[in-house]
Amino acid sequence: MRYHIWTLGCQMNVADTQRLASELERLGHHAAGPGDADILVINTCVVRQSAEDKAYGRLRELAQIKRDDPGKVIGLMGCLVGVRDPLRLREKLPQVDVFLPPSDPAPMVAFLSERAAEGEARAQDAAARAARDHLQDFADEAPGAILLPEGERGMLVSAHVPVVYGCSHACTFCIIPYRRGVEQSRPVGEIVGHVRSLARQGVREVTLLGQIVDRYGKDVPDGPDLSALLRLVHDAAEQEGIQRIRFLTSHPNWMTNELLDTVAELPRVMPQIEVPVQAGSDEVLARMRRGYTVAQYRELIARIRARIPGVAIHCDVIVGFPGETDAQFQETYDLLAELKLDKVHLARYSPRPHTVSARTMPDDVPAEEKKRRHAALEALQEQVVAAINREYLGQTVEVLVEDQVKGKWRGRTPQNKLVFFSDDSRDWRGQLAQVQVTWTGPWSMQARLAGAERQALEHRVLDERRDPG
Ligand code: SF4
Repeated sequence: MRYHIWTLGCQMNVADTQRLASELERLGHHAAGPGDADILVINTCVVRQSAEDKAYGRLRELAQIKRDDPGKVIGLMGCLVGVRDPLRLREKLPQVDVFLPPSDPAPMVAFLSERAAEGEARAQDAAARAARDHLQDFADEAPGAILLPEGERGMLVSAHVPVVYGCSHACTFCIIPYRRGVEQSRPVGEIVGHVRSLARQGVREVTLLGQIVDRYGKDVPDGPDLSALLRLVHDAAEQEGIQRIRFLTSHPNWMTNELLDTVAELPRVMPQIEVPVQAGSDEVLARMRRGYTVAQYRELIARIRARIPGVAIHCDVIVGFPGETDAQFQETYDLLAELKLDKVHLARYSPRPHTVSARTMPDDVPAEEKKRRHAALEALQEQVVAAINREYLGQTVEVLVEDQVKGKWRGRTPQNKLVFFSDDSRDWRGQLAQVQVTWTGPWSMQARLAGAERQALEHRVLDERRDPG
């Protein structure tokens, strides 16, 4: 059978979709467009009302598809399902055959296996054997190994690897602990097996994921922490040809100096830190139950910059949290203007079911005012990042090339800055290119090949001119 998975939401959902696709590939099913697929899955996000509305929109379409062809298999996955029994959803969504909790493909595997007629089971076994062989000399298939869909093997350059599932924090606005459960670290062997399997299918960059990735191993007595995990993944990366390692999302309370020093020491771990602040006012942070103050966040940013040379810092901010006054918003604005961070993911507060803020705090900042505050921070960040990127003009940077867009190669610097350059002398996908920055804007940069590659290119052009034959 052929399958299609729609993925909404965060990087963790992208990784969960990849895990489900891998299980389907092992069963001998193959990826296809939505129009050709027999198995249709939507992987959902509910972090804001708009994301949940999008999921229900797709579910209405799937109801019609199911009416037209009852043989189709419809799956619903992710945070709309959550970790609790989706009894209420089953009644509400009769078009759905299989409900999959976040990060758990097992119900779909069980459903398809049960459904498979004897004949098909034999076909599955043969396909599964073929799929296993593809993983080259993985003795008996390492735990955690992933099998990419055919179309991504040798094409996908950057992939996500979950290391901690769920979250045991209780920020008052956040629905994640209710839908993904308490934090659970993945065994090291599974993570390393996952990384190796990706490398053998052409992936050259991995991003380790967790809601609070710095809490890796905290739920395992004497378990390795994130620093130790980074060292083990770094070893595997050196052996398997993974060029770059990133991790997200951090939390100010769990970023140790040891972790920062490990990032600075390991050459394949990139100088980029993702650590949300959420607000620039201590009163708002207290009502969010984030567990730190603005002064502590400011001190952390200084520590990160002191310990990791050339580091880029990304963060998240929510505007319009219940009770946020103009003055408190101005504190957020002033903090971002002061810290000059490389990227700020902005969100407008959206009350989520069952969260403390939705139950106990009126959503009293008008939608128009949330919009104004969001736009003000967006405009500020555009100026801040434009100024940061201008510093790169004329510099030679190393770019890991991800793909080609409109004839230009697209890649990222170690600081995760987007760079485009032109060259038709070779296929740069998955390669590291030395390029010289020729133009900068707030969201991307243009460049040209630098150094030896540039000279080689110029010689080739001259040779061709001399001897067009
Ligand atoms: S740290 Fe807070 S915001 Fe992040 S996932 Fe956990 S509860 Fe949600």
